[in-house]
Amino acid sequence: MRVDTHTHSTASDSTVSPTALMDEARAAGLDGIGLTDHDTMAGWDEAAAMVAQTGVALIRGVEFSTRYHGITVHMLGYLFDPSDARIREHIAKMRTARVDRARTMVERISADFPLTWADVEEQIGDAQVVGRPHIADAMVAKGFAADRSEAFERFLKPGGPYFIHYYAPETTDVIGWINEAHGKAVFAHPAAPQRSRMVPFAALDEFAAAGLFGVEIDHPENDGRYIPELTARAQRLGLARFGASDYHGAGKPNRLGEYVTAPEILEDLVAGTYLEVLHE
Ligand code: AMP
Ligand code: FE
Ligand code: FE
Ligand code: ZN
Repeated sequence: MRVDTHTHSTASDSTVSPTALMDEARAAGLDGIGLTDHDTMAGWDEAAAMVAQTGVALIRGVEFSTRYHGITVHMLGYLFDPSDARIREHIAKMRTARVDRARTMVERISADFPLTWADVEEQIGDAQVVGRPHIADAMVAKGFAADRSEAFERFLKPGGPYFIHYYAPETTDVIGWINEAHGKAVFAHPAAPQRSRMVPFAALDEFAAAGLFGVEIDHPENDGRYIPELTARAQRLGLARFGASDYHGAGKPNRLGEYVTAPEILEDLVAGTYLEVLHE
């Protein structure tokens, strides 16, 4: 059984719709995927409608943006109660915070490049959350960068000329919210230093105490040098080992299904959660 537990759709910052993603998952020979758009559940229903047709099982999740001592941490929340008031409120708040931040970044960029908010809106399309990838796509469309990766490298990465943070809640708070809504929390790409500063792995002890379920040890952007230490620490804390592609369509080089999560881990993942995995 091959299940890629971390993927994105056009509901956040991927170039493929939930429908197309489910079709691609079938074509890639996957038995299931986790749909984990950034700070939104907006892609779930469209993907769910494709389960019967494709035979691809669907694990509904969200990749929450959080902060740990000023460092961005992406926390995957799986199978929690989508009607949970705190999570719904939080998602609404993030949506606004992301728009405010993106507008400010575009204002800064427009001092140096002829880029308008309307250019970015064109790239946002159906997305329910705005992120730097949409700004990157607008810059590519205008010819200021060759592709998303170059736009990030030159302009948009942390420490870059136009980067600013948006509001994000404390990592341990989000782990708590996911658990209280009867979901499971998994630390996404914990060893990807080229994206942003890494949290010291000692933080895993704190995250585990807050209710962390797993760690995404197998991920294309994790730096292999850190894997032995990460694996040892996760094992000691009894955290489950996840593997996933973080597929974003054409937005990133990550290939759908390039890493998967083991079946015995998936069995533990679904135990006691509010939502079930959707099967054919
Ligand atoms: P934001 O949510 O606005 O902070 O943007 C973060 C998103 O940008 C991540 O989820 C990735 O999908 C994407 N991203 C980050 N770094 C890169 C990069 N170097 N190339 C392409 N996409 C990236
Ligand atoms: Fe993303
Ligand atoms: Fe992420
Ligand atoms: Zn992701």
